Amino acid sequence: MNIVDIRTVILLSAITYILCTLFIVQLWRQNRERFGGMHLWVVHFVLQTVALVLIALRGAIPDWLSIIVSNTLAIMGAVFLYAGLERFFGKKGAQIQNYILLALCAAAFAYWTFVRPDLPLRTLIVSVGILIIVTQCLWLLWCRIDPALRQLTSSAGVAFGGYFAVSIIRIIQYFSTLHEERKDFFSPGTFQGMMLLSYMMLLILLTYGLVLMVNRRLIMEIANQEKKFLKAFNSAPYAITITRVSDGTIVDVNKTFMALTGYDREEVIGKRTLNLQLWENVKDRDSVFETLSKSGKVADREFRFRKKFGEAATGLFSAEIIHINGEEHLLSSIWDITGRKLIEESLKESEQRYRELSIIDNLTNLYNSRHFYNQLKVEIDRSNRYKQPLSLLLLDIDNFKFFNDTYGHVEGDQVISRLGQVMKGSLRDIDSGYRYGGEEFTVMLPVTTKEAGTIIAERIRKEFKKEVFYPVTGQDQDVHMTVSIGIAQYKEQEDIKSFVSRADEFMYQAKRKGRDRVCCEP
Ligand code: GH3
Ligand code: MG
Ligand code: MG
Repeated sequence: MNIVDIRTVILLSAITYILCTLFIVQLWRQNRERFGGMHLWVVHFVLQTVALVLIALRGAIPDWLSIIVSNTLAIMGAVFLYAGLERFFGKKGAQIQNYILLALCAAAFAYWTFVRPDLPLRTLIVSVGILIIVTQCLWLLWCRIDPALRQLTSSAGVAFGGYFAVSIIRIIQYFSTLHEERKDFFSPGTFQGMMLLSYMMLLILLTYGLVLMVNRRLIMEIANQEKKFLKAFNSAPYAITITRVSDGTIVDVNKTFMALTGYDREEVIGKRTLNLQLWENVKDRDSVFETLSKSGKVADREFRFRKKFGEAATGLFSAEIIHINGEEHLLSSIWDITGRKLIEESLKESEQRYRELSIIDNLTNLYNSRHFYNQLKVEIDRSNRYKQPLSLLLLDIDNFKFFNDTYGHVEGDQVISRLGQVMKGSLRDIDSGYRYGGEEFTVMLPVTTKEAGTIIAERIRKEFKKEVFYPVTGQDQDVHMTVSIGIAQYKEQEDIKSFVSRADEFMYQAKRKGRDRVCCEP
């Protein structure tokens, strides 16, 4: 008795196959960028549908099409599905065994269609072919893929298990029934009808299984992303905040933010940055938003921030607008450079101090002007206290600008340096020489009257005049330089400034009188 009309079943199957194919096409389109191999699933579904249609057209089209091609396509489709699954799970392997299987099956179909027509045997071959491929699929899902991914495959596994079972049943059926009973595919055969129905159900189950598998994998991926993001978010050395742009409400902060500002999560989530007074200067926030509205991001701007208890911090601020649920949010990070700033400042300070400590002039090895003023104060005090004379020489190189302009600055420096040496050689132990300015020098002569000082000044002038310079390399042209020197003797209770300017005055007098001389108050 026929309980299933085979043509109805084939029509139903065709509709179901087409629907499932469309479903898988959609699945592939949505996820093709994310996962590989899904296009091969599509090929599987298309081939199964074509195979079914060709079988349904038996009688209306040539036998080689409706029998050989259709059956081969069905097995080929299964091979594609298997290859697709391999790629989906990143386990691409060899397919050569399946190509051989495919060729053997096609040859067998041809033989048992044209040479010795035998439908049950052909059915057996299809079943064995499918069984071999399904077994590979199950092996892949249960044994080959990463254990972590195996939990995704249970639903698809059920479908493959179903295919496996149906193939086994068909093989058993072949060996346990008389062949003559079903000579033609369309002849009454409840068993064949049941088989077709089972394949239809299995295809639906497979579609469902694949969709579920992709879905689970997506969820798994999101969970992994979330884990990764959370880890990065919280372990980042930056203080990260996410705030809603429309009202400045803080949506999320990371651990570094809490460590930097001293706030707990609960104290800031849902609060506004302005209310928390995180910005030391509210105008900075406005300027950030101005930049953001122009360029969409702010990078490494230095701002001052206020911590929970009012303590200030300096940070490099970067921010970008992101969209969360369609709403604009500000993702910002602060790199705390308070410590660095402090170090920088103290370095600057100590550098300066190292410089307020330096008393030697590099070019001449004489003392520098800073030390001059300190020492002069000491000597003036001593002079006042002990009523001892104190004299001061002020020296200026003559026509030095001309020398510089003619031979260059480097040669000029040689002259300055040489004068330093001459001065050192002409001074007594208690005297001290200083480079007062560029090419101006001073000499402090404690316990010395202006008359005694004049002798020393003359010594320097004469010695320096003897010095020979060869400012043009490779030429013997020798140049002599001279200095003009003014002398002043300290007057009791006179202040530092007027003492120095008196020496300066006499130096100018020497210049006016024709240079290369020493001038002293009468
Ligand atoms: P005067 O006889 O009137 O002093 O004439 P001068 O050309 O020397 O005039 P003045 O003293 O005003 O000029 C100083 C020049 O010395 C100006 C500058 O070109 C040069 N000078 C100042 N400091 C340095 C220095 O450290 N190295 C060199 N090479 N030249 C310097
Ligand atoms: Mg000068
Ligand atoms: Mg000069």
